[in-house]
Amino acid sequence: MDCIFCKIIKGDIPCAKIYEDDKIFSFLDIAPANKGHALVIPKEHYETLLDAPDVVVNDLMLLVKKVKRALSSSLGAEGFNILINNKKVAGQLVPHLHIHIIPRFSNDGVSLNWKPKRYSEKEIDEFAEKIKKFI
Ligand code: AMP
Ligand code: ZN
Repeated sequence: MDCIFCKIIKGDIPCAKIYEDDKIFSFLDIAPANKGHALVIPKEHYETLLDAPDVVVNDLMLLVKKVKRALSSSLGAEGFNILINNKKVAGQLVPHLHIHIIPRFSNDGVSLNWKPKRYSEKEIDEFAEKIKKFI
């Protein structure tokens, strides 16, 4: 398969690796939002979060916590954002599940803001009613 992250895991494409075990891999983003912007990925190829088995999601989130602690200790990150883009419509450019960990520093100028859309209370209640039937 022609997947850039699978090639990184195999070592065919170089990366700034920060962690690897038999199931999970982590490396620094080549176009970082901030210093230390890391990606955590499963070694198995899954396109999105919903495609990955729960045990893999669990392993990924545990590594997110470890990487976050390392970013605080090593680079002095005071907070962090985690982000998963699922599917092209949501901005997913690489179709191999990955969790962005963006370390945050005071006044770092990083913006993850969206402009809030306006819905009435009635509309929001209707959305909730519809959604909860499928949970
Ligand atoms: P996304 O939009 O969530 O699919 O983000 C993909 C991320 O992968 C982007 O932030 C890219 O900068 C990053 N990326 C793409 N190619 C590489 C690479 N070869 N090494 C490190 N990061 C990469
Ligand atoms: Zn892949």
